[in-house]
Amino acid sequence: MPGFSVRLAVALSAALALPSAFAAAPKFQMPFPCKQVWHGNTRENHSPKLAVDLSRSNGAGDKVVAAAKGRVSKVRNLGNTSYGKYVVIDHGGGWSTLYAHLNSYSVKVGDNLALGQGIGTVGNTGTSFGAHLHHEQLLNGALQKIKFNGAQIHYFDGRDKYTDYKSANSCP
Ligand SMILES: [Zn+2]
Repeated sequence: MPGFSVRLAVALSAALALPSAFAAAPKFQMPFPCKQVWHGNTRENHSPKLAVDLSRSNGAGDKVVAAAKGRVSKVRNLGNTSYGKYVVIDHGGGWSTLYAHLNSYSVKVGDNLALGQGIGTVGNTGTSFGAHLHHEQLLNGALQKIKFNGAQIHYFDGRDKYTDYKSANSCP
């Protein structure tokens, strides 16, 4: 039945192609341990615009954790410029997350990480004024609106936006 096998082959190849093209985003969590509360800041002139800056009092040196399971794809130190010390985790399906201005990092490229696994500590490296974590969620390299535990964060509406968020990362 040549007609059938051709249709089957077409159907199979379409089915195999779909998962990568339409893979659901990982359910990203806040990059901090369970129940910690951090201020999230978004603003019009943030670079890039859809990133979030997370801070809390005496946050310098606090542990930063993976927003989802994945594999470390970048560990860089840009010195006093841009992101400073930063880490990128590849989550598959084109999704990645970025963690910048770190004081230190505890992972290397190729490390496989579980959700909530430590990657470094909050710092003030690069172009940063005060310790905070600059966080991005990207799809095929393009910044997406950030979601924590399935809920989109609050974005600037003509002025800076500060909202408190509570981590549900790896909560028992
Ligand atoms: Zn930032």
